[in-house]
Amino acid sequence: MAGTGIFSEILEGEVYKYYSDGEWKTSSSGKSVAIINPTTRKTQYKVQACTQEEVNKVMEMAKSAQKSWAKTPLWKRAELLHKAAAILKDNKAPIAESLVKEIAKPAKDSVTEVVRSGDLISYCAEEGVRILGEGKFLLSDSFPGNDRTKYCLTSKIPLGVVLAIPPFNYPVNLAVSKIAPALIAGNSLVLKPPTQGAVSCLHMVHCLHLAGFPKGLISCITGKGSEIGDFLTMHPAVNCISFTGGDTGISISKKAGMIPLQMELGGKDACIVLEDADLDLVASNIIKGGFSYSGQRCTAVKVVLVMESVADELVEKVKAKVAKLTVGPPEENCDITAVVSESSANFIEGLVMDAKEKGATFCQEYQRDGNLIWPLLLDNVRPDMRIAWEEPFGPVLPVLRISSVEEGINHCNASNFGLQGCVFTKDINKAILISDAMETGTVQINSAPARGPDHFPFQGLKDSGIGSQGVTNSINLMTKVKTTVINLPTPSYSMG
Ligand code: NAP
Repeated sequence: MAGTGIFSEILEGEVYKYYSDGEWKTSSSGKSVAIINPTTRKTQYKVQACTQEEVNKVMEMAKSAQKSWAKTPLWKRAELLHKAAAILKDNKAPIAESLVKEIAKPAKDSVTEVVRSGDLISYCAEEGVRILGEGKFLLSDSFPGNDRTKYCLTSKIPLGVVLAIPPFNYPVNLAVSKIAPALIAGNSLVLKPPTQGAVSCLHMVHCLHLAGFPKGLISCITGKGSEIGDFLTMHPAVNCISFTGGDTGISISKKAGMIPLQMELGGKDACIVLEDADLDLVASNIIKGGFSYSGQRCTAVKVVLVMESVADELVEKVKAKVAKLTVGPPEENCDITAVVSESSANFIEGLVMDAKEKGATFCQEYQRDGNLIWPLLLDNVRPDMRIAWEEPFGPVLPVLRISSVEEGINHCNASNFGLQGCVFTKDINKAILISDAMETGTVQINSAPARGPDHFPFQGLKDSGIGSQGVTNSINLMTKVKTTVINLPTPSYSMG
């Protein structure tokens, strides 16, 4: 159970502690932040509301711990990460339990998230050993006007303190996707977990603690992003910010100093369906892509753009599958569970009502009970409806009927987002042309958008992000190239 057994030291009374200097601590603020269970809408957990002084202390320790961590042999850093991954996987049950209670993620998917996170840590350790163990050797005489008098050696050095801020929907996985590359690359790490998801993150951090990382190298500051966020992101000790979330990322990028930013933000992933597509395959992918975790995924299918000639048939197939989705508690592994908060449910309802007023076709009756919204397919959506452009982050999916492929591509490219998209057709040549024309970080051919596998590059264009994720890209982003140039008095050639 969460907060018991090996995790009992992270909890005091009914409030979870924060992690600083290798210890679990109670904030001097004397205040806590409530985590509301989306299903029951009652307080499930409480976490510390950390103060600015506590942030200062954590940053100071992170700076100093990083100096010796950078000198720790790469293989030893990897060894600790492998150990942490094993502890995390061994303790998947209590961590998954908190995911169920904090963010209403179906129980099975919660376990999958923890296991996937352990695998991601191990993969990161292995990849780090490979790519950080290699540098470059350049010779000066390849550039015009130069003799071979300069030997240039390049290697990758850590940035310093990395600040990691994940969102609620994959709090553990998106935290470790920042933590593991930062650590293997020799950085220290300050984590600010999402409030909904904080307890799962604290359990995960305890697994890192048990693995035996040096004191002060990893810290976890809890509190509301709206209260502590600016202080953290504008802190002078921070050398890199890795953030995943919504529009907050855009404002952080305007306020942050001259440091590398990794921003993975929102999306309005389009699914373009051509006349020759396998409609059964499309329908299954629309269900998986649009309704998994109740549509609360950055890479959820968020708008279907289907050729008019096959639209009726596709909508019927999707409708039949929607009817089979189970709706209810995450503990029972229902397909559709409560969305994360009441404000989120209200926002989704606003989009649905706008579509209703403007004449969209409701394939199911709109139903809501508290934060639980029944899956809804909206057909005949037009560009003047908000749902055609905005990210509902809920189980509501709009279908726009198009009369040409160009119309679909234009709709996709008119969005301020550019995360992923997908195209369904049996004609691979057409698919490639469409993929090239879509202004998104990734295009999936004949499958729904997806972030994984976690070693694939993952990035958004436009308001969907800055930089690229995926194990290798994250390690590279969290390092800087350092060169040493050996200057010779006379040109030197290896042979002859
Ligand atoms: P969010 O509201 O932007 O919150 C993300 C994180 O930012 C949370 O940890 C939040 O903490 C923190 N935060 C809030 N205000 C802050 C501030 N002023 N300074 C620093 N941090 C602050 O996003 P969300 O609702 O958790 O997640 C949903 C969004 O994430 C969607 O738009 C989705 O598309 C996007 N997302 C993108 C990806 C991707 O890889 N592209 C993946 C998953 C999700 P609190 O919880 O304490 O407010």
